[in-house]
Formats: sequence, structure tokens, C-alpha cells
Amino acid sequence: MSASSAEFVVETTAPQEHHDVTEQVREIVKRAELASGICQVTVLHSTASIVVNENHDPNIGKDVIRALSTLVPERNDWLHDRVDDNAHAHVKAALLGPTESLPIRDGDLVLGTWQRILLMEFDGPRERRVFVQLLG
Ligand code: ZN
Repeated sequence: MSASSAEFVVETTAPQEHHDVTEQVREIVKRAELASGICQVTVLHSTASIVVNENHDPNIGKDVIRALSTLVPERNDWLHDRVDDNAHAHVKAALLGPTESLPIRDGDLVLGTWQRILLMEFDGPRERRVFVQLLG
């Protein structure tokens, strides 16, 4: 088994948005030339998440943010707001999680037809570091 890793940066442009990082991750996977393995994608922040979902219709990412905003209101007397005023972003990120793992086959990511890797921003705009770990 071998392991390698790489990192890239995403500049988000809105307070909350989804950002498709599939091609950046795919490029890292292709460079590694693994016949088979696992690709783990992690956003290195606590107010953003990584999810796998459709982006052919970009409304889906917006609907996910809308659903989370219904579930997690921006103002709710959150304790962390007394410290940093972004508690809702931490709660949303905790619900979705920072990491997704995907299979690698024949040197490429294995994704369904409509699946993409999305960085979910909940406290932007910011510079977000994404870490990619490959095992094969
Ligand atoms: Zn905070």
C-alpha cells in the first residue's frame, strides 16, 4: 500500500455557498496513477464541509444551504456567538462533516453520473484549505 497527499486552496465568494472542487481533486488522483485505492477529501476548517452530491443543477447546493438554514437559524442565542458570532456556521459544518471518502479505480475517481465533490461554505467569503489523502 502507498500513501500520498496534496492540498489546494479555494476562495469562496459569499457568506454561504457551495463550490465544486471535483476537478481539483480529480487532477490530484490522476497524477498519483493508482490502479485502485481510496481518496479522502477533508476541508481543514470548522465552518465549512465537504459533501458528495449533484451540481448539474446548482440549485441543489442552494437548497441544501436553505434546508440547513431552516434547521439551524442564524440567530438562536447560541453560546458561541458571545465569542465569535458564527455559531450557526459551526453547527451546520458539524452536521455535514469535514470529510468524504471516494473510491479510485484505473487512476480516476469513481463517481456516479451526477455526483460531484462540493465544498460547503457557511462563514464566507474566506480562503479554504482542502486536504486530499490518497491510499492505494
Ligand atoms: Zn467560531
